[in-house]
Amino acid sequence: AGQPDFLLAVEALTVSFDGFKAVNDVSFYVDPDEIRVIIGPNGAGKTTVLDLICGRTRATSGSIKYKGSELTKLSESAIVQAGVGRKFQTPSIYDDLSVFENLEISYPRGRSVWGALTFKRDAAVRDRIHEVAEMIFLKDHLSKRAEFLSHGQKQWLEIGMLLIQDPELLMLDEPVAGMSVAERKKTAELLHQIIKGRSVLVIEHDMKFVEDIAHRVTVLHQGKVLSEGSMERVKNDPKVVDVYLGH
Ligand code: ADP
Repeated sequence: AGQPDFLLAVEALTVSFDGFKAVNDVSFYVDPDEIRVIIGPNGAGKTTVLDLICGRTRATSGSIKYKGSELTKLSESAIVQAGVGRKFQTPSIYDDLSVFENLEISYPRGRSVWGALTFKRDAAVRDRIHEVAEMIFLKDHLSKRAEFLSHGQKQWLEIGMLLIQDPELLMLDEPVAGMSVAERKKTAELLHQIIKGRSVLVIEHDMKFVEDIAHRVTVLHQGKVLSEGSMERVKNDPKVVDVYLGH
């Protein structure tokens, strides 16, 4: 009882910039354990939707409910605390720290100064770092300085730095951009593995990758939802072929 049906319910979400509606009456619902991919041409409003969910941009109107609670009035840090993690396109790892240390500094240690000062590298923390390192294919590179990782490994490390905070909703902006074919395959495996107990919302342009990962796809066009459903359904939708996939 009291369990919300959706992990995330976005309803009639709208944001105007100087009268221009970058996101215009967008609604979609993400289930628990779902990988949802948002596709659409440049300027469709994809990044702005993620900015709205993580609190970086304020909605003009509409609602974003996460586990039944309204996010649109919360600060960015309160949204992170609620369990929403976001990875941006540019990596924000610490090049001069090891893989282990990058994961360690991302481990949640409470919000107080006291919590940070008294934080100890105890066995539970170490175990969690090893568990995450294994998921992101870096368990044999724990002592390597992050600057020596490949581009793909850096992207995985950043996902790991979010995973260690145990978000229930993970948002990723073009996670496989610049990756090799082999790295893309492993990233798809990683996403399928991490959705047990969480959901992933991804912006992606690589249609092969979208086919590999998406449970459902939401197509945005000019700030509105143009189509939604399985990749099979969406890619055969004449409206989608017309504005996007046909090019
Ligand atoms: P996408 O990620 O699909 O490429 P965006 O969400 O980045 O699209 O942008 C959607 C539209 O909103 C674009 O026309 C963009 O120029 C505009 N836009 C985004 N952010 C702002 C802002 N802060 N101020 C004004 N216009 C913006």
